[in-house]
Parts: sequence; C-alpha cells; structure tokens
Amino acid sequence: MQSILTINGGSSSIKFALYQVGDPLKRRLYGKIDRIGLSGTNLTFNDPAGNQQDSHSIAASDHRSAANVLIDWLVEQDGFASVRALGHRVVHGMQHIQPELVTQDLLDELHRIRPYDPEHLPREIELIEAFRQRHPKLPQVACFDTAFHRTMPRVAKLLPIPRRFDVKGVQRYGFHGLSYAYLMEELARVAGAKAAQGRVILAHLGNGASLAAVRGGKSIDTSMGFTPTAGLPMSTRSGDLDPGLAPYLARTEQITTKQFYEMINHESGLLGVSEISSDMRDLLDRETQDVRAAEAVALFCYQVKKWIGAFAAALGGLDTLVFSAGIGENCPSIRARICDGLDFLGIELNEARNAENAAVISTDASRATVHVIRTDEELMIARSVCRILGPGAVNKHD
Ligand code: ADP
Repeated sequence: MQSILTINGGSSSIKFALYQVGDPLKRRLYGKIDRIGLSGTNLTFNDPAGNQQDSHSIAASDHRSAANVLIDWLVEQDGFASVRALGHRVVHGMQHIQPELVTQDLLDELHRIRPYDPEHLPREIELIEAFRQRHPKLPQVACFDTAFHRTMPRVAKLLPIPRRFDVKGVQRYGFHGLSYAYLMEELARVAGAKAAQGRVILAHLGNGASLAAVRGGKSIDTSMGFTPTAGLPMSTRSGDLDPGLAPYLARTEQITTKQFYEMINHESGLLGVSEISSDMRDLLDRETQDVRAAEAVALFCYQVKKWIGAFAAALGGLDTLVFSAGIGENCPSIRARICDGLDFLGIELNEARNAENAAVISTDASRATVHVIRTDEELMIARSVCRILGPGAVNKHD
C-alpha cells in the first residue's frame, strides 16, 4: 500500500490527512494541530469515518516545532511507513500555474516572495523544511492557492496604481484556488462537462471568503486580490476598503502600518462590525436581539450579492452558482438572503431543498442552477501530488 500525506498549514493550525493511493484516493486518517503559539495547543485526529480517535495537548510555540511533534506522532501511526510523497498547500505562488515538486530552487524562491504573504508563507516554508530535514528522500509537492487564477485576463490582474509596481508583481492574484479547482472537478462530476464549461460563479464562504468567476473551466476573475484581505468582508478580515482610509487613520488616530494590518486582518469583518463574534453561527443566534449582529450578517450577505452581480456582468450572464465552505455549505438562511432579489439573473431557490442543504437548491425552472458542494482542499492536494508525480514516480521511492 502507498499513501500520500497532505499538509495544510494555516496561521495558527496545521491540518493533515493521509490518503491511500488508488482510484479513487481513500482518506485513511486526518487531523489537525490547532492553537499553535497559543496556550492549549492540541493535536486531534480522526479515523476515516470521522470519529475522533485522540486529542492531546502538545508543546509547540511555532510551526517548526509543531511540525516536529507531528512527524514524531505520524511515524508511530500505522500508515506512515507507506507514505511516498507529501503535498502542501502553499497560499502564495506568484506566477506558478500548477503544483510543483519542491526543489532547493523553489524553496529559495518561496523565501524570496515571503513579503507577499508574511502571515502564511513563512509558516508553510517552515513546514516544508521540517519534513525535508527529517525525511529528505520524501518528495514534497507545493500546491499553490493562487495557481487557479493565473488564467485571469490581464485586465483582471492589473491594479490601477503606477505601472512600476506591476513590474514588481504587485497585481491581483486571488486565493482559495485549491478549493475552486476541487469544486470545478466536482461540478463536472455532478452536473456534467457542459455545466462546468459554462458561466459559473463559485462562492467559497468560510472564515476566509471569496468568489470566483469561471468561464470555459478557467478563472476569469476573483474577489480576493493582491492579498487574501481583499474582496468580501470575512470572519475577521475587512475585505475591500476605501484606500483613503489608511492615510486618514494614520493622520487622525496615529495608527501605524502594523496596527492597520492587525485591524484589517484580525479585528474587522464579522467580528469588527458585530463586536460579538467572528463566527456566523453566533451572529445568527444573536441577530434578533442585537442590532450589531444583525448588521454584520446583513453586510456580509449584501456584499456577496453585489459580487455575484459584478461577476455575472463579467461572465456575460450566469448558468451555475456554487455555494461552498462552512457558511456556504451549512447555512440556508444566508444562502437565501444572498439569492433574494437575484431572480433577474435567473436565480430561483427552492425553499425546501435549500433548508436541507440539498446538492441542488434551485427550482427546476430556475435558469441558473444553484449547487451546494462540500469543498475538500486536502483531497485536491492529494490528487495534485498523484498527477505531478505520477504513479511511477510515487512507486520509485519505495
Ligand atoms: P475555514 O475558512 O477556517 O476553513 P470554515 O469553512 O469551517 O472555515 O467556515 C467557518 C464558518 O462557517 C464560520 O463562520 C461558521 O460559523 C460557519 N458555519 C459552519 N457551520 C455552520 C452552520 N451550520 N450554520 C451557519 N454557519 C456555519
């Protein structure tokens, strides 16, 4: 038996999963380390059926030490001896258009581009390096979250600032690419190749949230931009802001660059507006009693609706809308509020189907079909590793 290990390093967590190579890939175990660098760092893991097998506290003040704890733990697990390759989610890949085998050159490049995503890239590099040090023969593949959007036309990549910055790579990149790539494969599977080649809007609505406009199977635009802070208001990220706000706050409140960064990434969005929680469930529970919760929810839905309208214009119409991620997959009332009034775009929801999170939630008469698809970034990473290395290359490292 051969397996692929996937590693998805977030800002304070590492999600991992072990897939048995085969057609289809089979998930054997998965888990995560969360609260890295905080008190109460935990390693939890589940069996393939989702039953929690273990949860214990660990000492890990940064991603490198967490990776070492994870490697020590994995080595003791049944499946680890069968691991033939690793796949990492790497949030920023600049111009890379597809997953790539990690070489010293690629690592050097990732170090060079760290300033483009100071929150994620340094941690992802630490993870890759920790595995490289402990298991140097294990091939590692970097799967870039930006790659899906490299097909965007130039006009969607350009930022309207002086051209000299564009030459340095200050452009719109877009993120959530692994999720979008997976959703497009699923859409082709459940709705057919014709639907996947049509005019599609993908809405990845989780803690991080973005939309993508896809035509002919290729991304033509997305709501995140140069950084993942752009676009929609999210759990704690602001999304798009008037650029005049930064100098205004610097002038009037003496807010520093670092404070502004913290504010737009960790203190804004649902949390900032509600002053209650970054979690949509909490806000839905409180919205009838607390106007701040109600406004945060309303702002989120309004902005998603606006982006759908903008992307329908960019696409020249709409055939398919896909909801995904924590909020998109689980929250009928948010989907209903987003779609309310979008009948002019051919979107008509079926209330009962929406209420039960059905796979298709539009009416049979709806001109645009609205799907709910569970995203799976880990599976997309594992598929990418198999495609890049090929079964032969995976075998070679026996
Ligand atoms: P991440 O981007 O961290 O992977 P998720 O995709 O898990 O996040 O999404 C988290 C968001 O999904 C939270 O706002 C959470 O409240 C929301 N969510 C999850 N389940 C539900 C639900 N049943 N109803 C409403 N919101 C939900």
